[in-house]
Amino acid sequence: MPTEHSLEFDDKRYLWHPFTQQQDWEAEPQLVITDADGCYLIDQEGKRYLDGVSSLWANLHGHRHPLINAAITQQLDKVAHTTMLGLTHPKAIELGKRLIELAPGRLSRVFYSDTGAAAMEIALKQAFQYWQQSNQPQRTYFLSITNAYHGDTVGAMSIGGMEIYRHAYTSLFFPTITVDSTVPCTCGNQPSCTDCHMPCLDELERVLARHGHELAGVVIEPLFQGAGGIRIYPRGYTRAVWEMTKRHGALFIVDEVATGFGRTGTMFACEHEGIEPDIMGLAKGITGGYLPLAATLATEEIYQAFLGPGRTFYHGHTYTGNPLACAAALANLDIFVQEQTLHRLQPRIEQLTQGLEQLRAFPLVADIRQYGFVAGIELAQQKDLQRPFPAEKKVGSLVIKEARRRGVILRPLSDVLVLMPPLAISEQELALLIQVTGEAIQSVAEKLADE
Ligand SMILES: *Cc1c(COP(=O)(O)O)cnc(C)c1O
Repeated sequence: MPTEHSLEFDDKRYLWHPFTQQQDWEAEPQLVITDADGCYLIDQEGKRYLDGVSSLWANLHGHRHPLINAAITQQLDKVAHTTMLGLTHPKAIELGKRLIELAPGRLSRVFYSDTGAAAMEIALKQAFQYWQQSNQPQRTYFLSITNAYHGDTVGAMSIGGMEIYRHAYTSLFFPTITVDSTVPCTCGNQPSCTDCHMPCLDELERVLARHGHELAGVVIEPLFQGAGGIRIYPRGYTRAVWEMTKRHGALFIVDEVATGFGRTGTMFACEHEGIEPDIMGLAKGITGGYLPLAATLATEEIYQAFLGPGRTFYHGHTYTGNPLACAAALANLDIFVQEQTLHRLQPRIEQLTQGLEQLRAFPLVADIRQYGFVAGIELAQQKDLQRPFPAEKKVGSLVIKEARRRGVILRPLSDVLVLMPPLAISEQELALLIQVTGEAIQSVAEKLADE
């Protein structure tokens, strides 16, 4: 046990952590991070840990980047917070303009909030109210995809599909229509269908044929499902969903909370498949991983439907568009230009691909999935995806503990190890991340073999 009134002791005495079984948390030693330096986190004893998951998929250019630090400090000398309700401020305006210049398709309006879940709640509410205020037949349902993740508030959970996170709350959800994205296509209708390895678009077409006319929107994480286990859609799948959605007249809502800001190798995931969403949710990387900020972007057509008496969008948060966070977000975008982040990322993506290729041969490794600068390594018995470990073995957690002993912070999704380093990670640091991941897997495999 930690000594009385140490930081760790008081944490275990007073705090309640997110997504955490507190019984396990209290029983095990915990790291107290007091500092950071570039891609490293530093604990209270001065030990350095490579930040292999970008402090939960958010950090892009490293910790304590001088430009973001300076932007926040300069803003502190002006005003730390002022409301967006009835007032405005320069950083929110400037950032809105920059986001719209970068955003895919016809997105033209920025609505701020402070977390990814809020960005998605806002997307749902905007879409829902849009149909009420358009002169078209009413559309009230959302279509979402099995195993999706859009955040932990009740609305975001309603369109989510991860049962382990949401089953306790099922009776609170609004009804949604879901399609199963995991069914491989066997419909035989398209010329190359039997070998296309797409999740069955026929399945989606069947659901759309039945419900298309009553759908307010279709919600999807573009290119891959993140929290759902880094599950990558076949190339072209997201675009096909977009095209089918538009054919049925519903709004296409993309959740770029995890994929936005360079993670897939382009600024936004939509760019890979030329997708033009009607609404887009952003958060995580928007401030480079420094401060809580989120944004929901919508098209002018949607915005126009909210003009006039009785059409107000009644949504807002106290810290909507916080100036410090907007200043950090602007500095984040400046760094993309100054450091040519996306250009310099391409060889790192290639290095990650090659490193992962070597991990394929390791024991327990049943599958490796990568898109851009995100990877998921799925562990299973006898390297067989059909033979998952029993959940209570907590194999993913065992591996991240071994990685931690070797100076690398990872966080698994069950038995999927996630590698999602800062975009700015160096060649040597990335090599270390891959090497330690391999060693940690090897070490757990040996311990399991001894049991
Ligand atoms: C993390 C995440 C969210 C939720 O964002 P929070 O800021 O944690 O609320 C929503 N959608 C996706 C795809 C995410 O990865």
